Amino acid sequence: MDIDRLQQKLRTGTLPRARAPRTWVGPGSARVCMACDRVIARDDIEVECDDLTGRPLRFHQSCFDMWEAERAADPA
Ligand SMILES: [Zn+2]
Repeated sequence: MDIDRLQQKLRTGTLPRARAPRTWVGPGSARVCMACDRVIARDDIEVECDDLTGRPLRFHQSCFDMWEAERAADPA
């Protein structure tokens, strides 16, 4: 995972800064991670949450952790 890409997505609004109200953790759904743009394999852990408009966001566990850390380090 590329931290520069994640920071750029936060700057451009591709990834929201607002904390998601609910999150789910489960097996990968073979869909694309919002942070790193790679497929979340079925044997990976996937974290899913909604942004404040209800849009679903999906991440690898490690990408979600990095998103959380970045938002905490540089709050809106
Ligand atoms: Zn990812």
